[in-house]
Order: sequence, then structure tokens, then C-alpha cells
Amino acid sequence: MSSYLNEKLESIYQEVLHRNPGETEFHQAVREVLESLGPVLVKYPEFADQKIIQRLCEPERQVIFRVPWQDDRGQIHINRAFRVEFNSALGPYKGGMRFHPSVYLGIIKFLGFEQIFKNALTGMPIGGGKGGSDFDPKGKSDGEIMRFCQSMMTELYRYLGEYTDVPAGDIGVGQREIGYLFGQYKRITNRYESGVFTGKGLDWGGSRARKEATGYGTVFFLDEMFKVRGDSLEGKTCVVSGSGNVAIYAIEKITSLGAKVVACSDSNGVIVDKDGIDLALLKQIKEVERRRISAYVQEKKSATYMEGGNIWTVPCQIALPCATQNELNGKDAKILVDQGCIAVAEGANMPTTPEGIHVFQRAGIAYAPGKAANAGGVATSALEMQQNASRDLWSFEYTEKRLQEIMVDIHRNCYETAEEFGASGNYVVGANIGGFLKVASAMVAMGVI
Ligand code: GLU
Repeated sequence: MSSYLNEKLESIYQEVLHRNPGETEFHQAVREVLESLGPVLVKYPEFADQKIIQRLCEPERQVIFRVPWQDDRGQIHINRAFRVEFNSALGPYKGGMRFHPSVYLGIIKFLGFEQIFKNALTGMPIGGGKGGSDFDPKGKSDGEIMRFCQSMMTELYRYLGEYTDVPAGDIGVGQREIGYLFGQYKRITNRYESGVFTGKGLDWGGSRARKEATGYGTVFFLDEMFKVRGDSLEGKTCVVSGSGNVAIYAIEKITSLGAKVVACSDSNGVIVDKDGIDLALLKQIKEVERRRISAYVQEKKSATYMEGGNIWTVPCQIALPCATQNELNGKDAKILVDQGCIAVAEGANMPTTPEGIHVFQRAGIAYAPGKAANAGGVATSALEMQQNASRDLWSFEYTEKRLQEIMVDIHRNCYETAEEFGASGNYVVGANIGGFLKVASAMVAMGVI
């Protein structure tokens, strides 16, 4: 399935395919944005004259490097790491690091590309970038993780800086990894540069509510979509894919707003708990013990575990994909809609395939793309940078309030932009155009660079 692109945008897309062979996720992310931009070029022809889209599709800088490290038995391993510094029109490159065996250049570029528009939507002064490695943190000891992070930073440090490029976490990278990366950066540079990393620990420059921010933000956005439709989250049944940081805090927030989450998952399987997911137990298993979610059913007999199961077959009114890219396809979307799903908000990056998005849009359900709905994480990273710059630490309540205001603003911007460009209720169009306009105007202002 692919929608129509006008002649100019089609030729830009063909050029992207030609210049970046094999990077399928990057192609998908670019195509989704280009599909929204037709009416923008009609209204603002200067963006075409200035070749803004072509410039946006070419990262400002891409770094690929070797990361050798030794495991606990003394065996040497070689991984590959990336940092793609995509666009700095609005601020220093900003975006997470992902550690996962599936990582290659095409994944980091899709994430970096989406990050440009997401970061622009937050209204904070941050550009777009992303990094990561094909290193698999699963089953590794703390010592192995530390040695890997130190080896990676020994090369990466030279590209970073609080005014240059500010990484954070993503899949496989949480506070433990940020600690090892930041520690090695501090050691090599001899600078306590708090603002060079976000997602830090509270004792060493982190922000309150950063850990919760992506999941909370997704639910704040969802809540706004319900309000627009004259409805609320109260009493709704929900499924949340994943069981990492984003999923856990999406479950926490949506539960506190009166919905019931009956299923979550990891890459091995799905747990279904008709009583509602026991959040304390889930946190204990995932955050403290770092175990697989299959452990949940050993503790809670009312729950069932489906090894290799498909979470989208569990009936629900709200679906929150919070695991990874392309985890929800056209067939899954059809099952969701047929079983009464009325809203989808993406906590993960690009979790729904183009076919799946099409199904949701045709059905007219509320659908929020990740670059809008999961922007709360990076927005709170920008709040962390703000606290670092003023050597301050805000309260949880204040930080969460700022996060909520930002999500309400993003929702309003997406909603009004879609309306303005003749696509009422289409948050994909609203997010793509809303983000694009901010970056494009800044790029025009700064000349041909
Ligand atoms: N990895 C997150 C994202 O996809 C957060 C990035 C950040 O905080 O810089 O937006």
C-alpha cells in the first residue's frame, strides 16, 4: 500500500531510494512525511526553491565506528556503532542511543529523521539525531555493559557536547548505560558537562519525571484526543505492547486516569490479566529483577501467558503500541478495529506499518503517530537540559505539569494544522506538517548551509 505523491515529491523520494539503498525503515519514514507535504509546497513554494526537503533527507553528519570490548571470560567482541546527526536548525542534535541486535544504519536514520519533526513539535530548542549499536544487552553482566559503554564513548565523545549533540536512552539504554557513557565522557574530556546527556540519575544531573515522561506523555496526548471527541479514558479497556520504560509508565498513567490495561508483552510473548495489569509486580520483574514478563504468571495465577502470542488479538478499546517499529501491521489493525478499538496512540517510534495506518484512518478512529504522541520523552530531556543549564532540580509535580502542557500544545498544534491543511482529524498530516514548518522556516532563515 502506498499513497500518491505528486511529481515533485515522487522524484525527491526516488532520489532518497537511490542514494540510500537497502535502508527500508528510513525509506518508510521519509515516505510517510512526504505524503503529507504536497499542500505545504503549494502554500510555500520557497521551500521547494530552497530544496529544503532534499536537504532534510540528507543527514548533516553520519558517524560509523568499531566498538571492541571484552566479555567476562576475556573473549573479544566487535560491534558497530552509529551516530547520525541529522539536523541542527533548531538546536543541538538531540535523540537517544539504541542498543539492539537489529540496529543498522537504516534503523538509526529512520529514528533520526523522525526525531527532527518530533523535536520540532515539542517547541523546545533541539535539533534531531539518533545513535546506537548492534550490541545486544540481553543477558550481559553489569561489567560487560560497562566495558561496552566505555569503549563506545572512547570514540563517540569527540562528536558530542552540550551545544553540539546530546544523546539519551532508547531501547536497551536506560539509566545504567547512561551512567557508564556519561562517566567515560567526563573522564576523557575532564569536564562535568551535565547537559551533554539526558536521562541521567537524579543525584548526578537527571530530571524528575524523565523516566516516566514518554509513557505519561503518550497518555496525555491520548487524553486530549478523547476530549476533542467528547469522550474520556474512564472505564476504557486498553492493551499496551512492550513492557519497557515506555510501556510501564503508559500503563501507570492510563490506569490512574480510570482505564484498565488487560495485556502487555515482550519479544517472547504476551500476558493477559483480566483484573488489570498489576503494576507493582510488573515493575519488580522488569525494573528490579530484569526478567522476562513470563515471570508475571508465576506470581499471579489469574493471568495467562501466550508464548509467541499476538497482543493485538486481545479485545480492547484503546491500543498503545509501545514496543518497536513495525510491530502492528494491516492485519493487526483490522483485528483491532473489528473488535471495537476506537483509539491508538504510539509510544514507540513508527510501530504501525503504512497498511496499518491506512486501516485506522479509513475506519475513522483516533490515531496518533509516534512523532507526536511519544514526544514527551525528548521534551522532558529538553527540560533536563534546561535544569542543567541553570544548575537546578525541579519538583516532580512541576516537571510533570510542564510535560503535560507541552503535550497539550503538541496536540493542539497537530489538530489545528491538520484542520488548516484540509485534513481534519488527521494527526499524521498535522504532526508532519507542524514539525516540518518549524524546521523549514529556520533552515530558510539560516541560508544555504
Ligand atoms: N529515544 C527517545 C525518543 O525516541 C528519547 C530521546 C531523547 O530523550 O533525547 O524520542
